Amino acid sequence: MQALTRFIKSLFLFELLKGLSVTGKYLFARKYTLYYPEEKAPMSPRFRGLHALRRYPNGEERCIACKLCEVVCPALAITIESEMREDGTRRTTRYDIDLSKCIFCGFCEESCPVDSIVETHIHEYHGEVRSDLIMTKEKLLAVGDKYEKEIALRREQDAPYR
Ligand code: SF4
Ligand code: SF4
Repeated sequence: MQALTRFIKSLFLFELLKGLSVTGKYLFARKYTLYYPEEKAPMSPRFRGLHALRRYPNGEERCIACKLCEVVCPALAITIESEMREDGTRRTTRYDIDLSKCIFCGFCEESCPVDSIVETHIHEYHGEVRSDLIMTKEKLLAVGDKYEKEIALRREQDAPYR
């Protein structure tokens, strides 16, 4: 019986007509074209975009090179090298995030004990060669310096959910 139904449906091009009816339905409906980049779609406050490394208000890097973010990263996108300073504190000498590997899961941000590595709302960036997508420590700190006010506000708003 099922085979007969299938045969009749294919004979009268039922699936094709069904598809065309969907096309017809949307042909005169209101259009939802977004003229990006002039127009932007709403973004979730919890959107995870480009990473940044933060500093304390006195300019000192927050990162203590504990490497928790490197260990927790499921994509192995983070590479950290560190050394001990003369004052006994430990700081990174290298902190790279390979954006071509990163899956923007947010684990690095969640694992950081000092709120150093964070993900910002920035999603409009590109790279023309692979090395453009390696975020070095200098690049990450520059993003952090530029957007610190906004990052701090978002961290405050997110606090009850963490
Ligand atoms: S967002 Fe996820 S995948 Fe990307 S660097 Fe952080 S932990 Fe790794
Ligand atoms: S960014 Fe945070 S988790 Fe990663 S090494 Fe620095 S202090 Fe540790």
